[in-house]
Amino acid sequence: MKIMVTGGAGFIGSNFVLYMAEKYPDYHIVNVDALTYAGNLENLLAMEGNPNYTFVKADIADRAALEPLFAAGDIGAVLNFAAESHVDRSILQPDLFVRTNVLGTQTLLDLAKRYHVSKFVQVSTDEVYGTLGETGLFTEETPLAPNSPYSASKAGADLLVRAYHETFGMNVNITRCSNNYGPFQFPEKLIPLMIRNAQQDKPLPVYGDGLNVRDWLFVEDHCSAIDLVLHKGVSGEVYNVGGNNERNNLQVVRTILEALGKPESLITFVQDRLGHDRRYAIDATKIRQQLGWEPKYQYESGIRATIAWYLENQDWMEQVVSGAYQQYYDTQYKER
Ligand code: NAD
Repeated sequence: MKIMVTGGAGFIGSNFVLYMAEKYPDYHIVNVDALTYAGNLENLLAMEGNPNYTFVKADIADRAALEPLFAAGDIGAVLNFAAESHVDRSILQPDLFVRTNVLGTQTLLDLAKRYHVSKFVQVSTDEVYGTLGETGLFTEETPLAPNSPYSASKAGADLLVRAYHETFGMNVNITRCSNNYGPFQFPEKLIPLMIRNAQQDKPLPVYGDGLNVRDWLFVEDHCSAIDLVLHKGVSGEVYNVGGNNERNNLQVVRTILEALGKPESLITFVQDRLGHDRRYAIDATKIRQQLGWEPKYQYESGIRATIAWYLENQDWMEQVVSGAYQQYYDTQYKER
């Protein structure tokens, strides 16, 4: 089987490529990635020389660039990870998010339909459901109520995927996962950002009161869920993915400080993110019961393994943090 993985040079996409290449050495993986600031081929050094792997630098919203890949006629499945993925950036530049996340997904759907691709998996997020109060969990029936331009663009993509199923009968699935952590995450996101700053004894910028809650999942467990959905997902169905690991931001940051032996005085509260969702938590009963998914990693050991990975891979970290990123960082985190 030949599968197209879009966004395969990003955090989750590259973990997925590595996971699939190991588990299914006979599958041919075509990785389509525009290599934005978030895409990094260093993540995929292990794929070099693999005859069952092809990298194509292309934008998922560029139909002319993608069409020849589909016209070859042998792509069995598309897994769409490609996205602008950072909420803070979506507040600065919403148009880019609509272009990639909405138009890009629609372009892929259209080509997949035209060239009779058997399966389309849309990698979405729990953020499309909006925010929760102190209690409750998102189920697949929770109404979509996105609050940021990022989550609104992901919800728009989800609705298009649904529409291609309802209108054209395409075999699609949508996965909605909670926050991921693990190797190869770009250091604008909470965990690698805090590890890098703590290591360098720099302030750790925590939004608002630090009590926003996320449901953390180790990236490999997300990959195994997508693998199951690819092979066993029932056409048209949505699957929530999450590991019941709710932690607020302060708890996450304190774990990192403790693991690195750094003082809590590094924590610096900064102006809150606009429209900052308070709490996300996932009910993953459906994928557990219907597809037999089980996460392998406990949060406590997963987070410690992740911290160790970033400490061992400081060259990777410094290489992805370019001058342009530093400029973005300096404007983003203003002390309260
Ligand atoms: P990421 O930002 O690390 O990677 C995104 C990748 O997409 C990059 O390699 C980038 O170069 C590529 N890309 C961006 N625009 C593109 C375009 N127009 N054409 C082709 N490639 C393009 O993101 P991530 O954290 O790995 O997230 C991957 C997917 O998973 C996203 O769709 C995201 O919405 C979803 N998701 C992420 C999380 C999380 O915690 N990170 C949780 C749930 C769902």
